[in-house]
Amino acid sequence: HKKIENLKASVRNIPDFPIPGIQFKDVTTLFQSPQNLKDLTEVLTDLYKEKGITKVVGIESRGFIMGPILALNMNAGFIPIRKPGKLPADTIEESYEKEYGIDTIQIHKDSLNPEDVVLIHDDLLATGGTMLAAYKLIKRMGVKKIYVNFIIELETLEGRKLFPEDVEVEAIIKYD
Ligand code: 5GP
Repeated sequence: HKKIENLKASVRNIPDFPIPGIQFKDVTTLFQSPQNLKDLTEVLTDLYKEKGITKVVGIESRGFIMGPILALNMNAGFIPIRKPGKLPADTIEESYEKEYGIDTIQIHKDSLNPEDVVLIHDDLLATGGTMLAAYKLIKRMGVKKIYVNFIIELETLEGRKLFPEDVEVEAIIKYD
């Protein structure tokens, strides 16, 4: 609808970033206008407000922008997933293959419990490797239910196919 069209129009495309051939979707321009920030918050909150979310997990670092806003709106806590060596207490981790080499993400061991209904949030779904690692990490922690959310989905990369059928994967702005 209209709100989502406006939001999509405010995403900036940066050719050849961070390397030649990549069309980078810059989400910082989405957050600049107060009206966009409000609309984005509303659309995302509406998707999950009836789901009984108890924890929003944000993926470093662009998942740290809307993640806490959503948590606040849903009366949930906020938990960061970070790159190795950043979280100070005991962590568990998950590694995944990127185009060049292996990446690892970590979460605090004591951040989730079996009663938690978790919403994992990141800004953008590309190949899905990052979010799948986050999903596996949280799955290992044994929570009640996991929802997966993005602001943007690059549909041609078919990242959502990596997730089990019973996992609700939502994105509000789509590119094909
Ligand atoms: P994936 O693991 O799905 O291939 O890549 C998604 C991860 O890389 C996300 O954490 C996302 O922030 C980042 N990413 C990849 N491409 C883009 C892009 O074009 N724009 C933005 N904002 N992030 C991207």
